[in-house]
Amino acid sequence: MDRFHPADTPVAVLTTQPLDRALDYRAPAGGVTDGAFVEVPLGPRRVMGVVWGPAQGDWPVEKLRAIARVLDVPAMTPGMRDFLERAAAYTLTPMAAMLRLALRIPGLGEAPGKRTFYGQGTGQPDRMTDARAKVLAVLDERAGDLFGATELADLAGVSAGVVKGMVASGAVLQTTQARDGDFPPLDPARPGKPLAPDQAEAADALRADMAQGGYGTTLLKGVTGSGKTEVYLEAVAECLARGRQALVLLPEIALTAEFLTRVEARFGARPAEWHSGVTQAERRRAWKKVAEGQARLVVGARSSLFLPFRDLGLVIVDEEHDTSYKQEDGVLYSARDMAVLRASCEGAQVVLASATPSLESWANVESGKYRRLDLTSRFGTAVMPELAAIDMRDETLPAGRWISPKLAAEMQARLERSEQSLVFLNRRGYAPVTLCRACGQQVACHQCDARMVEHRFQKRLMCHQCGETAPMPEACPSCGVAGKMAAVGPGVERMAEEVAGLFPEARVAVLSSDLFGSARSLKARVEEIAAGGADIVVGTQLVAKGHNFPKLTLVGVIDADLGLQGSDLRAAERTFQLMRQVSGRAGRAEAPGVALLQTYQTEHPVIRAIIAGDEEAFWAEEAAQRRAAGVPPYGRMAGIVISDPDARTAFDLGNALARRTDALELIGAEVFGPAPAPIARIRGRHRVRLLVKAPRQAPIQAALAQWVGSVEVPRSSRLSIDIDPQSFL
Ligand code: ADP
Ligand code: ZN
Repeated sequence: MDRFHPADTPVAVLTTQPLDRALDYRAPAGGVTDGAFVEVPLGPRRVMGVVWGPAQGDWPVEKLRAIARVLDVPAMTPGMRDFLERAAAYTLTPMAAMLRLALRIPGLGEAPGKRTFYGQGTGQPDRMTDARAKVLAVLDERAGDLFGATELADLAGVSAGVVKGMVASGAVLQTTQARDGDFPPLDPARPGKPLAPDQAEAADALRADMAQGGYGTTLLKGVTGSGKTEVYLEAVAECLARGRQALVLLPEIALTAEFLTRVEARFGARPAEWHSGVTQAERRRAWKKVAEGQARLVVGARSSLFLPFRDLGLVIVDEEHDTSYKQEDGVLYSARDMAVLRASCEGAQVVLASATPSLESWANVESGKYRRLDLTSRFGTAVMPELAAIDMRDETLPAGRWISPKLAAEMQARLERSEQSLVFLNRRGYAPVTLCRACGQQVACHQCDARMVEHRFQKRLMCHQCGETAPMPEACPSCGVAGKMAAVGPGVERMAEEVAGLFPEARVAVLSSDLFGSARSLKARVEEIAAGGADIVVGTQLVAKGHNFPKLTLVGVIDADLGLQGSDLRAAERTFQLMRQVSGRAGRAEAPGVALLQTYQTEHPVIRAIIAGDEEAFWAEEAAQRRAAGVPPYGRMAGIVISDPDARTAFDLGNALARRTDALELIGAEVFGPAPAPIARIRGRHRVRLLVKAPRQAPIQAALAQWVGSVEVPRSSRLSIDIDPQSFL
């Protein structure tokens, strides 16, 4: 139960300011409860905070400053406060940073009332300028959305004056609307699709969990197209029918559109949406309605785990193995693990859905922490594609070509039958390396220890680490010789060129994340392709994620060995998952599919496991190896990255850490490094890594905190701790 603190009693307020503890304040007139969102004076400013309980210090109450304002929004629930504290402790994140994730919401302190919004108009500007054209482009892209003037101006990269100046001509629509309206009710009683027997069984099990209440996690495993979504929508229906709230996490914004349509078909209305592609006004509305308990279903990205649900009953993590669930910036957390944590704080059920679950989830099923439900066949007549390797050592290819004659012949056959083929290469851009044939120098980024990647469609070189771009040089930046710059190795754009050369009549579509300005334009293209608007699709891992192409019957993987290089402990797991996901794109409808994997390592255990399709054997083998090595999920790991503009300083700090590992030794942990990170410099900062390995049950967080706390971090340095790292770059 939340405590009530009468006026003038001392309370602790946690703020989003980088302080290491909550501050004490005096409760305002009228009092305040735990969890209340408040504004408090801090120095000369006012900052946002949340009442976190009784005061911690023993300051005389007269000396405390009073809470300036209590915001008119529902208080943060005990479950949410518990979640933030436990998430902070798990990820070794300061509470202030954790709270910021929960308060990332525009205009929280503002009253509801009416506000002026701007959107797409029907007229044309009286005079066209570059700035106006930019505004029109944004509005065209996001037709139907309403923005604040500043928000729209920021998106277009112009001043708010430009936006307002376009109202009179009707090119921009100006409208005053009430904020924060209710979401339309969802009707869980509407019937779903009649389920196949294995689907019905899984749905019954999930419904029974919902009915019983309390926390539990289920791994819902089934090949692409087996109806996992249909099944978990039944759990959502049960959750809604019980008056509780549900959250569906998707790994990719581009997938939300299709999902929203399915929700609408199932429950008669659209749910709330929460991701970076949603307008500020819509985000604010979603936040408030979730806090009030009015919005019952949210579809969102990982940050929606920090929404203020009143009574969260169910969290779905779709494509739970997806690496994009790991937040790699700022607060480092795994949305899958945080979903489970949040659910356990709220007494909610979790469903992790995947065709290729992570080894972590696999191990949690094995140890009895998660329950597992299987959907064994594809729905209806569709069958899993036939998989085969193409041994590239037997294929002869001219230099600068990557499509084997065998694969080309299969593609030709698809063209003749008016079926689609997918050429898959998980590498963006035209070529990974650009070098000078005169001096041999490769073009590298100035700020990073990385090569510049040619993006021919955009006619620029780009650094995939920092995003820096540069025009394609005519002359070598090193030796100055002109006309000798050459592309080395393939990227998707180059594959598209090869495909066009081989099949001049074919309509070729390229799907790569950098080629689409927005989720909306990507979705439009995907729909066009699904409807038959292309003969050959050339794509990166973007195509592996859930899109449905009914006419696609052939998948050709250009370089199945690509992900197996490097020292990442999950290389085998990732390759296995990706290859299965990509292969799963073939043969969704009546026509059976084939997936061909070009490889130079036909005997490699991972390649053989993929071809054999014996998942259980693969996972058992992978698990045995990890267990023997004591690495996740059978051991704990933490990655430490130190960065500094000066390499020496970064190394000194790394060495200082390596010298005093007593706290870690006490829990049986080992420290490796310091070593230069594989990407030794990003944005001008030199990077040094240490890796900590500990036994499964070791209290790693406490030991890490003590260890890192024992050294002084220079002001210029940054030190980040990544618990359960996914990336080792
Ligand atoms: P998954 O999430 O496992 O990839 P989906 O739930 O998206 O599978 O199902 C794949 C396709 O099959 C979808 O178009 C879906 O509507 C259809 N489908 C699955 N189960 C049924 C069912 N019981 N009745 C009708 N269509 C179904
Ligand atoms: Zn760079």
